[in-house]
Amino acid sequence: KTGLNNYIHLKKLGKGAFSEVVLSLDPTSSQKLALKIIKKQLLNLQHQDTKYCLIEAALLKEFDHPNIVKFYETSEDKNAFYIALEYCKGGNLLEKLKILGKFDEKTSAQIMSQIFSAVDYIHKCGVIHRDLKLENILFGKKDKMDVKIADFGSSYRKKYNERPKGIFGTQYCLAPEVFSGFYTEKVDIWSCGIILLMMMTGKYPYFGTCLNEVKEEILALDIKGIQSRIPEASPLLLDFLSSVLDKDTRLRFSAKDALGHPWILCFRRPNL
Ligand code: ADP
Ligand code: MG
Ligand code: MG
Repeated sequence: KTGLNNYIHLKKLGKGAFSEVVLSLDPTSSQKLALKIIKKQLLNLQHQDTKYCLIEAALLKEFDHPNIVKFYETSEDKNAFYIALEYCKGGNLLEKLKILGKFDEKTSAQIMSQIFSAVDYIHKCGVIHRDLKLENILFGKKDKMDVKIADFGSSYRKKYNERPKGIFGTQYCLAPEVFSGFYTEKVDIWSCGIILLMMMTGKYPYFGTCLNEVKEEILALDIKGIQSRIPEASPLLLDFLSSVLDKDTRLRFSAKDALGHPWILCFRRPNL
């Protein structure tokens, strides 16, 4: 079995720190797919990096949810690890935001409802994504608003005798508690709040250019600051955001709480 090496590479879809994602064609089935190529040259093989790349494939294999990118197969050669994934034709949410400028509340609520549904599912599986951001939310189709969570390369599977710590993920989506040691799956909820804020404003929420500057802005973000960024927001949206971006992790919504909030429910699409 020649496996993933047999695929015909059609075009580059995206790029991350260690990986490249290529639209590929499986000549035997004529099926298009996204091939994530994680180059070993860029990984520190003695280090944790290999572990994260294995965790990504293992988690994707286990998940089965309409709002999580589907896994097909994986392989490895001397140069790289390969993960074959469902091809999401609509590109990522950051690209979409750049095209559209902003999203309206109705569309945002319908997208957030799908994201929280996937987040609720992975949290029930005992997994924290840790890198939820616009670049890791993909659109399944070109002109539809069906989204899928991707990129489980920084994810953490809960263990009974260990708690997660350390800064993973991307500056602008980091939750305040990651700076003070241990944290929980509530970091994902905060990241979803930042994603939503960006969908409403069309802008990054912070101005800082390094982690220390951004950290100060994250720790200072409050409901007044949120409100001033989106003065036209409905009272329901502000109420939703204040619970999703609550710095007190015990008061912050769970994914299930978010799915039950009236701002999500009043825009819910029956066919999703
Ligand atoms: P990294 O871990 O290096 O960030 P990602 O898995 O996030 O890699 O993929 C990088 C980019 O490639 C994404 O932001 C997205 O634009 C694109 N991409 C990833 N997976 C797919 C897919 N299944 N379908 C379409 N585009 C994808
Ligand atoms: Mg990514
Ligand atoms: Mg990654």
